[in-house]
Amino acid sequence: MINFKCRNCGFDFQFSEDKAGKKAKCRNCGKVFVIPGGKPEPVVPAEPPIAATPQAAAVTTHVHHHTQEGIGNGAAAILTFFVPGLGQMCQGRVGLGVAALILVPFGYLLFIVPGLVAHLISIVDAATYKGR
Ligand SMILES: [Zn+2]
Repeated sequence: MINFKCRNCGFDFQFSEDKAGKKAKCRNCGKVFVIPGGKPEPVVPAEPPIAATPQAAAVTTHVHHHTQEGIGNGAAAILTFFVPGLGQMCQGRVGLGVAALILVPFGYLLFIVPGLVAHLISIVDAATYKGR
């Protein structure tokens, strides 16, 4: 049984456990109240420690940034799109970059399609470069 004293008039009640958390009216003064006891109120779950996650990600990015030489492959591919061979040069492959720089415009001028193909190959090559 739950013992409860009315906050309004001080009248003492007893309730069975299954009435806990439900509303009741005071038999003495008529004030409506919630019967205490029973299941505890649902505890708001503590916020997950999200603060640690961005920090860890930042550290990972930091390390990754330092282990990767030169520019990213995506940036190299974009550079190669505008200037054939520039991406390869930025990746440290100067010889291949110079070759693409000469061959791609040459291919465009003379054969159009082979120039386009050579250009696309150099872009894909820059994008998929695995490093030295
Ligand atoms: Zn009362």
